[in-house]
Amino acid sequence: MRVRLENVTKRFDQVTAVNDFTVTFDDGQLTGLLGPSGCGKSTLLFLLAGLHEVTDGNIFFDDENVTHLSPEKRGIGLVFQNYALYPHMTAEQNIMFPLENLKMPKDEAKRVVQEMAELVHIGELLKRKPSQMSGGQQQRVAIARALAKRPRVLLLDEPLSNLDARLRLMMREEIKRIQRETGITAIFVTHDQEEAMSISDSIIIMNQGVLQQKAPPQFMYNNPINEFVAKFLGNPPINMIDAEIKNNNILIGSTLFGKCTAPDQKVHLGIRPEGFIIDDQGPLKANIESVEYIGRDTMLRFHLNGHPIRAILDSNLVFDEKSLSLETKDISVFVFDMQGNRINV
Ligand code: ATP
Repeated sequence: MRVRLENVTKRFDQVTAVNDFTVTFDDGQLTGLLGPSGCGKSTLLFLLAGLHEVTDGNIFFDDENVTHLSPEKRGIGLVFQNYALYPHMTAEQNIMFPLENLKMPKDEAKRVVQEMAELVHIGELLKRKPSQMSGGQQQRVAIARALAKRPRVLLLDEPLSNLDARLRLMMREEIKRIQRETGITAIFVTHDQEEAMSISDSIIIMNQGVLQQKAPPQFMYNNPINEFVAKFLGNPPINMIDAEIKNNNILIGSTLFGKCTAPDQKVHLGIRPEGFIIDDQGPLKANIESVEYIGRDTMLRFHLNGHPIRAILDSNLVFDEKSLSLETKDISVFVFDMQGNRINV
């Protein structure tokens, strides 16, 4: 099912948590909702779930306007960071609970519980209570419970935040698998860009309640619409350098970096760490301050026009020189105006 927000705004007194948001979550896709703390991710999810009323705008599930529909009638499955399982119930009873509320006949409910437990790979843990399960197992129960009602859309609010690093990695792949196997439209809230990039078919980045960009992860990485998006994606983060456009030249200080057609102005130049190439004819002169060999890659640190730079290069290169000339790959370089908007150069 396709989920669409049209001009949705949510205000709490003075705070506009979601601001004139128009976006479509595609049918059968896993969309990562990404942004810094307080940008309105959870509020957006709660609006979709019907747990908050919109201040303005409309929400559609396919062609049905659900803006004023109660949460029970929307057909939503919700998974939270803290699992929200009933501690006195077994895994089986937890998954069964929403089905009993729906007055599903006992035999059928048992069959659904078994099917869900197998889907999330906890078939052998059904008699355990939450306190007898690991965090990852509890989250599997929570996902099974959310899916048992056969919801139209699955909403996951930072579902991996309480897990340690290793389990996080495993569970994010599991969530992707479960989503693929069920084909359900899923929306996954996180502030972790790597997590969002690794499992999402599409990413939405928001900032201060405002939609910045929606695109498949790799496309967004290579085509950020503005400086905020460029800085939000990538680890180590993109290098940002003060530069200037003058007479169709891009200047870093007095160094000619490249040509462009945009009008004269001060700009921010973004260069991804992996966007550097060693080239004797390259325009950038780097006085290397440190070299770190990190597995596959080597990280060089230097300064350009007073800005600290990290460059990631192939680790089979040996750096015995103190200074290098560098070229950049076009795909890794972006120019932004002083308002942070991308300039086509
Ligand atoms: P985090 O990643 O920290 O969970 P978030 O992106 O999910 O943050 P929200 O929880 O949606 O952000 O909050 C967005 C803004 O709305 C914040 O400024 C927050 O303080 C405010 N806000 C959220 N819920 C309420 C509420 N019930 N009453 C008043 N203000 C609220």
